[in-house]
Amino acid sequence: MDIRSSQPQGPSLPSVETYEPLVGNEAIERIMRKAERLSDLHVINVNSTYYGGGVAEILSSLTLLMNTAGIRTGWRVIQGRPDFFSITKKMHNALQGGEINFSDLKKDIYEEVVFENAARMHLDHDLVVVHDPQPLPLIDHFRKKAPWIWRCHVDMSRPDPELWSYLCGFVERYDAVVLSLPEYAQNLRSPQRFIMPAINPFSTTNKELTEDEIDDRFDHYDIPTDLPLVVQISRFDKWKDPRGVIEAFKIARKEVDATLVMVGNVATDDPEGQEIFESLCSCREERIIILSVQDSALVNALQRRAAVVLQKSTREGFGLTVTEAMWKGAAVIGGNVGGIRHQIEDGVNGFLVDSVEDAASRIVQLLKDPQLRNVMGHRARESVRSKFLMTRLMEDWLDIFGSFEAHFTLTGQSDPSR
Ligand code: UDP
Repeated sequence: MDIRSSQPQGPSLPSVETYEPLVGNEAIERIMRKAERLSDLHVINVNSTYYGGGVAEILSSLTLLMNTAGIRTGWRVIQGRPDFFSITKKMHNALQGGEINFSDLKKDIYEEVVFENAARMHLDHDLVVVHDPQPLPLIDHFRKKAPWIWRCHVDMSRPDPELWSYLCGFVERYDAVVLSLPEYAQNLRSPQRFIMPAINPFSTTNKELTEDEIDDRFDHYDIPTDLPLVVQISRFDKWKDPRGVIEAFKIARKEVDATLVMVGNVATDDPEGQEIFESLCSCREERIIILSVQDSALVNALQRRAAVVLQKSTREGFGLTVTEAMWKGAAVIGGNVGGIRHQIEDGVNGFLVDSVEDAASRIVQLLKDPQLRNVMGHRARESVRSKFLMTRLMEDWLDIFGSFEAHFTLTGQSDPSR
């Protein structure tokens, strides 16, 4: 299917040109020129979940945007039993600095399930992009005819050394490694590149909503709006520090009245989520609402109506929820870690916090000062417009794809002279 020539009256997708009012004509023309040079490419992305979490959110928008620009870009998801995802979640945690007992049995299950996926994943693409540790060993099972790129989205400031040394055996077979920040660079033979994620302003999570549409979501979930809302939206994951959020809110509420709403979903590749959600349920009160749902319009409505948005993570490769809320002009308080440090400029377009007490005092400050919220929110939206929209991410990827141009020319897949 060539979506560029699809039915004019049928459903439409945002294209690079749709971003013109937001990013300007010069950027659009530059990106389209780069896309044109690579337009014969057939690219495949592989990750481990279709929804729940930032990687799926990025892939669902980026792959479509690439296709609207003429680059045939696919997306496949590996399948696995719960024991596989339990192991890969432990690996994810250990890459972010947690502990792991990575036994031979776990290695066997990990490698076996990836091998089974490889057996039914027929790849004949010009470029293969593998996301995160779950499908990483795929590369062992293909005769490599195209460049393979490993895109790791996790906070790699302090990976468990033993696990990392095992994973390096796979990682170093890749032609390039893409991490979110230069701080995450590792001692590797493969070249490393750095790309920060971005958001699609036209998705259900981010598009403009009317006040009625927002009210509708609040009514649906019985969320009271009589007091200002303090919101955190995150998978139920220990690194998002949900308990710290509740503690900070309770301290803040001694000074200013408000309602806390925590919404999370459970990704199919994250078996810990349900347990963490259940462990939080005992913290529910009239003014502490905790919901486990997958509802992107609710996420959007909450980020738009919140007086304060929290993302009190203790590790965060890059927090899409931070950028989503900033795009809506929210005043965001983020954990002073990982990617959030590059998303929020402390005291300018949001606040960075190092502790529960810090978070509590910023909640109080923002709830008491609508003018400050407004000023920060305006700056926040502008910083997203200039740095974190999907067209910038697409251009970064096109530059990486273009760096393999010699390979495509050699194999006659793309004609760079066009
Ligand atoms: N998200 C969602 N519903 C939820 C929680 C999160 O749709 O209940 C989305 C959120 O809007 C964002 C993504 O999932 O687009 C989370 O990405 P982020 O980078 O913040 O965190 P990750 O889950 O990847 O660690």
